Amino acid sequence: MSIQFNQDLIEKLSSKVHDAWWEEKKKQGFHSPADCKKNVLIQFVDPPPAAFRTKHCDKCHTDMYPYDELPENVKDYDRVTVKTVLGALLEVKPELVKSLNLEIEYE
Ligand SMILES: [Zn+2]
Repeated sequence: MSIQFNQDLIEKLSSKVHDAWWEEKKKQGFHSPADCKKNVLIQFVDPPPAAFRTKHCDKCHTDMYPYDELPENVKDYDRVTVKTVLGALLEVKPELVKSLNLEIEYE
C-alpha cells in the first residue's frame, strides 16, 4: 500500500516547515544572500553577479528565500520531511491522522 497525500496540503505544510527552518537558520546567524551586507559592495559591479542566489559570505544561505520562490528540488527537502512525519504519524497513531481529515488517498 502506498499513500498519496493531498498535494495542496503537502505544499501548505512544506511552506510552514521551510519558514520554521528559516527561523532556525537565522538564530544560527545565517541570512539570505539578498540581505547580505557584503552584497552591497558588489551590487554596483558591472556586469552584475550572474546568479541572484550567489553567496557573498560564509553566513549567506542560498535556500533562504520564500518557499514559493524556491526551485522544485529545494522544495523537495521540505516535502520529504512533511511526508515522512505524516507517514510516521499514520503508522504510530492512525486514528489521530484520520481524525485530522487530511484527504489521504490510499492506492
Ligand atoms: Zn552573506
